[in-house]
Amino acid sequence: MGVKTAEFIWMDGKLVKWQDAGVHIMTHGLHYGTSVFEGIRSYKTPKGTAIFRLGDHIERLIYSANAMSMDIKFKKLQLEDAAKNLVKINKQGDAYIRALAYYGYGNVGVFPRDIGANVAIISVPWEKYYAGNVRIMTSVYRRHSEKSTVFGTKIGGNYSNSVLAMFEARKNGYDEALMLDYEGYVSEGPAENIFLVKNGRLTTPSSRSALHGITRSSIMEIANSLGIAAREGKVTMKDVKNADELFFCGTATEIVPVISVDGRKIGDGEIGRITSRLRNEFYSIVRGENKKYFGWLAFLG
Ligand code: PMP
Repeated sequence: MGVKTAEFIWMDGKLVKWQDAGVHIMTHGLHYGTSVFEGIRSYKTPKGTAIFRLGDHIERLIYSANAMSMDIKFKKLQLEDAAKNLVKINKQGDAYIRALAYYGYGNVGVFPRDIGANVAIISVPWEKYYAGNVRIMTSVYRRHSEKSTVFGTKIGGNYSNSVLAMFEARKNGYDEALMLDYEGYVSEGPAENIFLVKNGRLTTPSSRSALHGITRSSIMEIANSLGIAAREGKVTMKDVKNADELFFCGTATEIVPVISVDGRKIGDGEIGRITSRLRNEFYSIVRGENKKYFGWLAFLG
């Protein structure tokens, strides 16, 4: 992915030109991963650009920031407005929005003593993360347990684990990694949740094992309303390898079929019927074609 640029970036309440949006080399977050972030998407809809589940993303950002004892100077609604205004001023339709809070300039010790938290929002034009189906491998790296981090957060430093898994997968010729939790159950991808379909039912690893993804929860709700049973629970590698269908989901990834795991074909090696149905429904919702789900769309106003 080559990053496309935009005209402005929002930094601590100000709109800054893209080329001027730098930070000091002493920024604590750069040294220790003391940042928290969200990936959010906006879509072009018949009623103008809308940001998908913006409030839920900002809520999770604040949850992550609280876990890191960051004192964010902006309230939830201020951050939502800032994101909407930024997408508007950058004149964007389909975009990827990155909300980021980080410990800034202050001291070089691990403990971010007397360092304030900075906040930034970036929005760049973006389309697909994966254009086609993906082939994955099981990583040797395990997801952090709730004994080594605060569960349900997106803390920058935790993602070194995802990066290691991605390098491992790419070096071995796969598109993506599948990560297990500390007990050896299936957890998630480096930046996406996973669902399996068996006998017409959906299962996803429990939220004690994987991030409580916003796309994941949307899919559970969509499946229920389509009459497709969906549950969360413990998932083994055997379940994954014997699944009829498998897919990754996440804000960046959206819904992407996984067609093989460790070289073993899943189903008939194509997108499955249920994955396809859910994906079509998901796209119609994010594109503002389904009134029932308008509550998930934040129009720019
Ligand atoms: N798991 C991880 C580790 C992630 O980083 C993400 C992306 N935020 C997801 C799952 C998917 O979450 P969401 O649907 O909220 O983007």
